[in-house]
Amino acid sequence: MKETKRSQVINRNQIAILGAGESGVGAAILAKQKGWEVFVSDFGQILDKYKTELAKYEIEFEEEGHDTERILKVGQVIKSPGVPNKAPIVKALLKAGIPVISEIEFAAQYTDATIIGITGSNGKTTTTNLMYHILKMARYNAGIAGNIGYSFARMVAEAQYDYYVLEISSFQLDDIRFFAPDIAVLLNITPDHLDRYDYNFDNYIASKLRITMNQTAQHHLIYNAEDESVQKGISKEGTEAKTHAIRPSGLKTDKWLVNDIEFSPDELTIKGKHNLFNASCAIRAAQLLEIEVNDIKKALRTFRNDPHRLEKAGVVNEVEFINDSKATNVDAVWYALDAMTKPVIWIVGGVDKGNDYSALDELVSEKVKAIICMGIDNSKVHEAFATQVKIMEDTQSAKEAVEVAAKYAEAGDVVLLSPACASFDLFKNYKDRGEQFKEAVKNLS
Ligand code: ADP
Repeated sequence: MKETKRSQVINRNQIAILGAGESGVGAAILAKQKGWEVFVSDFGQILDKYKTELAKYEIEFEEEGHDTERILKVGQVIKSPGVPNKAPIVKALLKAGIPVISEIEFAAQYTDATIIGITGSNGKTTTTNLMYHILKMARYNAGIAGNIGYSFARMVAEAQYDYYVLEISSFQLDDIRFFAPDIAVLLNITPDHLDRYDYNFDNYIASKLRITMNQTAQHHLIYNAEDESVQKGISKEGTEAKTHAIRPSGLKTDKWLVNDIEFSPDELTIKGKHNLFNASCAIRAAQLLEIEVNDIKKALRTFRNDPHRLEKAGVVNEVEFINDSKATNVDAVWYALDAMTKPVIWIVGGVDKGNDYSALDELVSEKVKAIICMGIDNSKVHEAFATQVKIMEDTQSAKEAVEVAAKYAEAGDVVLLSPACASFDLFKNYKDRGEQFKEAVKNLS
């Protein structure tokens, strides 16, 4: 090979990791274990717990800035999903032709386990948790990782599993090269995170389709056959995997068939059409892994989802309170409202990510009797629903929102926190928002 200027200075056994959160630190631990010389660099501050861990493994790191000169000499870079491609350091790396990969790409190189990779705009966590629960019920040696809990790389470094269920975000898919899950699940694609995709929805669709781009005929793709953007993506990008179409409209609450095997929606602990769909995807994957139907059914009956997803937050004066703080986009709210069977006092608002609320018009007219806006700037919610809902109030904390909602609620109503927005204007994150909501409900009684 002709020596170029760069190949003379490059250190092929050195790896740099951008970002020192769970993903970056997991990648650092795995890389160190596999004999790489590792250097971790974070543009911001690194949490103490991660600094302690890096020190324990004797991994060099820097924070509050990047030593560009040093990073440009390594053979390979692993980029945490939070670091955007427009960050100057990433631009410099790409310009220099240095491979930049994601942590899941790196981790996958070091395991032969069967991988079930789950992506989509909504329902990833629920479906990933349920899939993992099914595998555990069937006594499979399985781990859960990715965009949920521990990073995939950390798990590969520290555990030995035969199966991994991975929740995979579009950001993680953006930097894969050869990664191919044995079973990919593509739940849906609705506008989200467009700020990272040049405000171009097609770019986001293409990103999600990367889950199947390296799959071959021995792999499987389970997908939502009625989601226009999923269909568009598959026909544009193509797939070599064996495909398994799930059609949400075919999922009837009285008779629930997945690949001709009958299940009962009553046996599923999570409610709403969306969860019937999520569960169908997990069941189809379980069938492909030859898990017995009785084990699947046992798992459906005993599954508990993570909090903040249509979570029951209490009943006060015969008014039910539901915490759906994780609903940070319009599509998730659509399913929340659709699942409501009582008149709704809807708590909505926060940091708008470019929402188009028109998809909610029909459900709001039909079910919502009052809107309680909870955000610093509520103007878009007002514009969208002023003609449909008579009662609209602005609030600026969870406590205030819950108290005002309680004032309008009558016995038999439901107060639903399903914000359609990010939480950063008033809260640390969606979990903080959900916890403050639950605390406020507790304090009502
Ligand atoms: P993700 O990990 O993709 O954010 P979650 O399972 O955490 O997904 O759910 C996020 C929000 O989306 C919750 O409000 C939940 O009720 C809603 N949701 C779950 N599954 C779906 C689905 N298939 N379609 C639309 N919304 C969904």
